[in-house]
Amino acid sequence: MLLPSLLLACVTVSVDPSAFGDLAAVDDTGDASAASPRPTRAEVLAACGLGPDDALITTWSWWDDYPTTSNPDDWAGEAVMDRPISEPCAESAGAALGMDWSTFGEHPAAFDTPTTVAQLVVAGILQLAAGDYGTVGELQASFTPTELLATDNAETLDPARPAAQFLFDYVQAHVDRVSWGPEGQSSCFFAYQDGDVHVCLDESAFTIAPWWNIGGFPPFMASALVHEAGHDDGPAHIDDGHFDPDCNGTFGAGARVLDAWLAASGPQARPLDIDTVEYGLSFTCDDIIEAGPGCPCN
Ligand SMILES: [Zn+2]
Repeated sequence: MLLPSLLLACVTVSVDPSAFGDLAAVDDTGDASAASPRPTRAEVLAACGLGPDDALITTWSWWDDYPTTSNPDDWAGEAVMDRPISEPCAESAGAALGMDWSTFGEHPAAFDTPTTVAQLVVAGILQLAAGDYGTVGELQASFTPTELLATDNAETLDPARPAAQFLFDYVQAHVDRVSWGPEGQSSCFFAYQDGDVHVCLDESAFTIAPWWNIGGFPPFMASALVHEAGHDDGPAHIDDGHFDPDCNGTFGAGARVLDAWLAASGPQARPLDIDTVEYGLSFTCDDIIEAGPGCPCN
């Protein structure tokens, strides 16, 4: 299988801080989110003109015909959301997870389709906040027996609420900051370090089909954010960071998010988007050595 960027899709919790170079200084010079409360999911949705039960629909639009070859040049396309993203929406979504725009060389701006890495991250945060993953009760049942997504927030745990509430609150509780980098590190896709999700995607992420560079499709980005948040208190990977021994690690968490998306959003989704997410799920599952009962990788 010729998917080099996906093979490196994860992630390390043992990143050498010196590898981040100048980024280390950013931590000290001010993260505005640390000084003021970050927007809640409800506030993000309100800023984006969405109600608490509304789902943001994202599809993958091929620039050419549906790919029938393994040549990635045939796979170019773009993620398209079913509504334009306003500047206040982008700003609120970013602020919710401590988006450090300066490290991306960007600032909050309106967009229709993500065409920059920061916009892609925002689209992923919005897909986390407003994707359809079923209910909290359904999602929690699917996560048993893992304790990865444990939370004490009784409101979050209301089983009738959208699962997006649960996932968003979980990620927000474990992620202080989202930044770009480290620059020039080709082997990084996402990395988690001390509450900071480092996004190392390059521009190919939003022009190459998602199964070449998985971050390009916002439902994957949402699942990747859950995966990274899981590194706050979840188990580390084994075998040089490439695998989990079972489904109770962060690969399993990401797989369950994609599985929940397929279960809830699949009936309304287009076959191409289902194919795309199923591909990502199978690739995530390839990183789980012994899936075991209850794992969506079986
Ligand atoms: Zn990981």
